[in-house]
Amino acid sequence: MTDPIRIGLVGVGKIARDQHLPVIDASPDYRLVAVASRHGEHAGVPNYRTLAEMIAEQGGLQAVALCQPPQARFEAALAAIEAGLHVFLEKPPGATLAEVGLLTEAARRRGVSLFASWHSRFAPGVEPARSWLSTRRIRSVSIAWMEDVRHWHPGQDWIWEAGGMGVFDPGINALSIATHILPPFFLTGATLEVPENRQAPIAGDLRFTDAAGTPIHATFDWRQTGPQTWDIRVETEDGTLVLSKGGAVLTLDGRDQPLPPEAEYRGLYDRFAALVRSGASDVDLNPLIHAADAFLRGERRSVEAFTD
Ligand code: NAP
Repeated sequence: MTDPIRIGLVGVGKIARDQHLPVIDASPDYRLVAVASRHGEHAGVPNYRTLAEMIAEQGGLQAVALCQPPQARFEAALAAIEAGLHVFLEKPPGATLAEVGLLTEAARRRGVSLFASWHSRFAPGVEPARSWLSTRRIRSVSIAWMEDVRHWHPGQDWIWEAGGMGVFDPGINALSIATHILPPFFLTGATLEVPENRQAPIAGDLRFTDAAGTPIHATFDWRQTGPQTWDIRVETEDGTLVLSKGGAVLTLDGRDQPLPPEAEYRGLYDRFAALVRSGASDVDLNPLIHAADAFLRGERRSVEAFTD
């Protein structure tokens, strides 16, 4: 029986409350020892305003989960690594590619584990889809990630600011699945629709291909009301695979495949514990590379102002 990992959490906001804190609480691999948040609180453990205070006062701390928006994560991650802590990064792992590279190198030098988490890869349909596709010739891929920003991100200003990524905040989840289940691909063109009063796109139309010339098309849109769509459809020579509901449902030629229940964050925390105990890191930048390429290579179209 190994001792639980003594973990602290930074940024008590939506995802910390919805997933991280309940999953840490339920896992035998962890003991939550403190949280750090400027506004959020969590009962039952010491609450600090900053990570620096938490590190100074919690001598036995071994790891931290960083649940702030991407623009705020680098500084905290570097401080945690330099303090000798293992670091769990929410997605996306940073606001730039280079900062995550720097963290990876810092973690290697300090001998701590760095985990760039991609929760959608732990959706129940993703590994079966990857396995089924690994032996098939793919003809085309169509991704539709369309949701209502007012429902999912009310009042979140950071998401509209530079580095917040706009519709790529959910869209990068689709990219995290696509980069896991498909052969390597790259962006050939994109159109980003940016509200005239914001810095980040509300919609994106992305075109990719791979070494075999396979057409891969993705539509991200935050203006969808009513039923929400998080689908990846892959046409192969042996039939059609559809991952829907963000990877929670898998069909092959229209037939539902039996899957275990959703447990994305349990899967992430199991993976982080395994990394910490084996002294390894897991930092896959591919989803962020595709998002960055869309900002680098895409055309911008100004669209009507967005107000909450
Ligand atoms: P959030 O509730 O808006 O922010 C999380 C916490 O980060 C806040 O409570 C705040 O804590 C801190 N924070 C906010 N803005 C900050 C800033 N500018 N500088 C420093 N700290 C700031 O966001 P969230 O929805 O939980 O998302 C956080 C991260 O988790 C994002 O990267 C997102 O992509 C990812 N994520 C979110 C969801 C979801 O369903 N919302 C799902 C999966 C992953 P204090 O002010 O108390 O310090």
